[in-house]
Amino acid sequence: MNAPLKVSEFRDAIAVQPAEPIIRFETVSKVFSGKQANDVRALDTVTFNVARGDVFGIIGRSGAGKSTLIRLVNGLEKPTSGRIVVDGTDISGLAERELVGIRRKIGMIFQHFNLLAMRTVFDNVALPLEIAGRSRAEIEQRVGPLLDLVGLADKRDRYPAELSGGQEQRVGIARALATQPKVLLCDEATSALDPETTASILTLLGDVNKTLGVSIILITHEIPVIQEVCSHVAVLESGRIVEQGPVLDAFLQPQHPTTESFTSSVTGLELPPNIGPLKTAPTPGGRAILRAVVSGENTATPFLSGLAGTGNGDIDIVAGRVGTLAGTPFGAFLVAIPAEQTTLGPALSALASATQNAKVIGYVD
Ligand code: ADP
Repeated sequence: MNAPLKVSEFRDAIAVQPAEPIIRFETVSKVFSGKQANDVRALDTVTFNVARGDVFGIIGRSGAGKSTLIRLVNGLEKPTSGRIVVDGTDISGLAERELVGIRRKIGMIFQHFNLLAMRTVFDNVALPLEIAGRSRAEIEQRVGPLLDLVGLADKRDRYPAELSGGQEQRVGIARALATQPKVLLCDEATSALDPETTASILTLLGDVNKTLGVSIILITHEIPVIQEVCSHVAVLESGRIVEQGPVLDAFLQPQHPTTESFTSSVTGLELPPNIGPLKTAPTPGGRAILRAVVSGENTATPFLSGLAGTGNGDIDIVAGRVGTLAGTPFGAFLVAIPAEQTTLGPALSALASATQNAKVIGYVD
């Protein structure tokens, strides 16, 4: 039986400068100069902060600039302009040997796990400690609890080829945590896994974040990854962040069409064909369509009964979704109510007091 993982060691290491974000990008641009072709602006004035303890998701389609962004965080690329601050240190101009200390603060996991086939599970996790020159006794002391944490204590002498993809990624996570990093960079870490295994890896990452306090940056093109585990999200498109903020806001009140298209499979609502199409103005005797969202504690508030009290019983939910966003329950609904001004005013106030962001999105006959 291994000694339990020393959570306090992680937390002590993280507790320095608590107000300083763990990662800051300040108007960062990265231009790749083409020899024959035109220059490529892979990142364009990108600004965001990752607060300590956050799980920060960056979502974008292929070519959006995600890999470039991740390579900038660990200093594999230098920005063309702007500043990148990691744990209080501006790394933008650091020389390779000065980056060693910074990289030690950053654990990294990859889409294809990048395990060494000739090494056992134990020896894969031990590798970063060997490189850092730790003694065999210290390595024994560190690796055992990490294998317990990722649920692979019984696989310590197995080789990667004997493991499932999910188990391989667990080894990747244990290895990334071996040097007690402050931040874990996850580069499409679940993209090679089936949905069920993805969910279990995301749960593990959530646990690592909560128990060890390690901040996490997840780069992904898959919206379930953001939905399951992230507290904040930035949406990257053609090298620019088009929207960023708390996950609940991005899913429930997306401001940019790209965010809306990413989140539509989770929180998007469509009118049933027998009701539409949506019109911009009310018709005589017609109905208004309201979009209302609730989340967290609000989901327990019975907002429909508030509506019924506004003097008109003819209220229908015509579309709706309920679920959870990073563990917080949400509901999103389209509600049809008579469009006459007298009914709509009180109904909107009743909705507004019980929900967030209730608004008329159009009218139907
Ligand atoms: P993503 O990871 O979101 O797919 P990338 O960061 O790989 O996006 O790429 C963003 C853009 O930068 C793409 O147009 C890509 O072709 C270009 N790019 C990335 N790396 C280089 C490079 N080393 N040289 C030239 N262009 C590059």
